[in-house]
Amino acid sequence: MNSGRWRQVRGRLSRQRRHLVAAARRSDHATAEHIRSLQERVRALSAWLGVWGVFKSCPVSGPHLVNNDFGVIVRMPGVPVHVHQGNDITAATGTPIVAPFDGTAVVSPNVLGGLAVKVYGAAGYVYNAHLSAYGHLGPVKAGDVIGYVGSTGDASGPHDHFEWHPGNGGAVDPNPLLSVVC
Ligand SMILES: [Zn+2]
Repeated sequence: MNSGRWRQVRGRLSRQRRHLVAAARRSDHATAEHIRSLQERVRALSAWLGVWGVFKSCPVSGPHLVNNDFGVIVRMPGVPVHVHQGNDITAATGTPIVAPFDGTAVVSPNVLGGLAVKVYGAAGYVYNAHLSAYGHLGPVKAGDVIGYVGSTGDASGPHDHFEWHPGNGGAVDPNPLLSVVC
């Protein structure tokens, strides 16, 4: 090949090289953009799970109705007037009650609540009352059966009286969290 032809080939190759470098830069940029948007999504999902994903399972595993009755004044014969501290989840006697998250299930029977069980988890504890019978106790995973719906204690019909105590403190309305999983 003569030198003129070589110059032509070199010129074409260097143009191709510039072209490829520019294309690689564009593609790096697009990949970085994509990774950034994925990281953004992971952050948003983690934030959502932190706020709304505390319960992994609906506490009542079977046909049920969640009553949005936190804060209602309870007036029942033979029971001191009190502010309702949870949501009553109506279901047939014997319907399984499950741990809403991983934790430790502990019995907590009392006069008003009848047979009752608490589950202590990483973010706080839940309290289920009026059970007809207990299920698995001790270490439990989300979805493990910890008891069965009943009407022991001051219940006027079968339901799971369900309370949520974040940070093991006072009860807060569990309805927004229940609406995600029930
Ligand atoms: Zn109740």
